[in-house]
Amino acid sequence: MHESLTQELNKAIRAIKDYPKPGIVFRDISTLLQDARAFRRSVDALVHPYIGIGLDQIAGIEARGFILGGAIAHQLTSGFVPIRKKGKLPGEKVSIAYSLEYGVDEMEMHRDAVRPGDKVLLVDDLIATGGTAEAAVKLLKEMGADVIAACFVIDLPDLGGRSKIEALGVPVRTLIEFDGD
Ligand code: AMP
Repeated sequence: MHESLTQELNKAIRAIKDYPKPGIVFRDISTLLQDARAFRRSVDALVHPYIGIGLDQIAGIEARGFILGGAIAHQLTSGFVPIRKKGKLPGEKVSIAYSLEYGVDEMEMHRDAVRPGDKVLLVDDLIATGGTAEAAVKLLKEMGADVIAACFVIDLPDLGGRSKIEALGVPVRTLIEFDGD
């Protein structure tokens, strides 16, 4: 029987309770990545709306956004831009502070990674509160990029991330939703 993408993702994504701390259900995509068919189908589904629109760059958020973003960039014949944790990039950088549950962190991008007017798709594995993706969108826009959309395999809708990104004028696409955090 033909299995829907939702069914396949439900099986392929592993939930690990109380990681990285008590009360959090970690949605682990490593089991999805090692399942060739589920990985392929996920990338195909993420790519689909953007075929033929001439995206210049796929921006992936460290670290799981690199894996998905690299595959998406290859399939769309786009470039790939890493958005990294502070201190990892060697060249001239732009950085932005963003809030985590406790305290703040910083993410960075090479200053010459995107040009004004570049059409960019932002990619990560999961959107929760949206704080991480919001910072990435702001960084890209600061460099003059036209952020066409942000896409994720997983949405945790209870945490409200989608509306935070849509409020910046960036459409959000996700493949599956899970309750809670
Ligand atoms: P947020 O900034 O709250 O939207 O968190 C999104 C970032 O944290 C993404 O890079 C996710 O990989 C990671 N993340 C947050 N919550 C979870 C979770 N429950 N399971 C797996 N990854 C998570």
